[in-house]
Amino acid sequence: MPARLINGNELSKQIRSDIAQRAAELTRQGRRPGLAVILVGDDPASHVYVRNKVKACHDAGFHSVLEKYEATMTEAELLARIDLLNHDPAIHGILVQMPLPRHIDPHKVIEAISTRKDVDGYSVLSAGELMAGLKGFRPCTPYGCMKLIESTGYDLRGKHAVVIGRSNTVGKPMALLLLQANATVTICHSGTPDLAYHTHQADVVVAAVGRRNTLTGDMVKPGAVVIDVGINRDEAGKLCGDVDFASVSEVAGWITPVPGGVGPMTITMLLANTLESAEG
Ligand code: NAP
Repeated sequence: MPARLINGNELSKQIRSDIAQRAAELTRQGRRPGLAVILVGDDPASHVYVRNKVKACHDAGFHSVLEKYEATMTEAELLARIDLLNHDPAIHGILVQMPLPRHIDPHKVIEAISTRKDVDGYSVLSAGELMAGLKGFRPCTPYGCMKLIESTGYDLRGKHAVVIGRSNTVGKPMALLLLQANATVTICHSGTPDLAYHTHQADVVVAAVGRRNTLTGDMVKPGAVVIDVGINRDEAGKLCGDVDFASVSEVAGWITPVPGGVGPMTITMLLANTLESAEG
């Protein structure tokens, strides 16, 4: 039987509608959620991403500020901007779009954002809070993946989850969130000699690699939940994930499509984190 689709667009719509209602309530109380997005340079993909984030804020009734700067902006100038936003009571979340121009140290920039406004969840403190199981901002993409899994009603307790990829923004936090949900977790990466050996045993696979066809149907356990984080282009230039959708959907129990799976959830969880910050 072909896998059931986990529809990220649909789930996003439901969560965003709830967020908009809560934002309206906060606005009535004089505490409208506010997100500041900073873009430095002219990376075309980044322009699209920030536009989508600002539009999502607008649709949810948030206050949003988009600050665009030339690639020549110095690190000191950027840090000074962040400092001002840290002290701005109308701003509850600050997001600096990556990648930054080479002369700016991204770590310094992330650490300059007030922990209370780190809605991307990228700072060392947010990572530590996740590691320790404390309250804090969860990175938006893995947080969205957890919501997608939850939406199926699948109980992760005691299940074996395999995460492919170990980046600080997706793979590692994903593994920690699955662990928190009491799954038994394996993390695979480019040095894993036999990826299929691990994925064959997985009840849940999260693919976050950035290479299409990383996961094919012959690598998947029947009935598994498959979450595809990857964003790639096929030879025809069409958007695709890391998962070979055609073959995997014949074997898996649940699967996210690309587009329309993890992508919309990332921005949704950014709104959720900003709302949470405004709620205090
Ligand atoms: P990344 O920083 O490049 O990390 C990729 C990971 O994949 C690395 O840990 C790497 O291992 C591992 N890897 C590479 N080749 C592999 C292989 N053959 N077998 C197993 N593991 C392999 O990328 P990222 O930022 O985590 O993003 C991953 C993908 O998700 C990208 O396509 C990105 O565009 C997409 N993404 C989507 C969203 C969304 O909203 N949908 C958000 C964020 C990212 P090593 O550590 O050993 O190098």
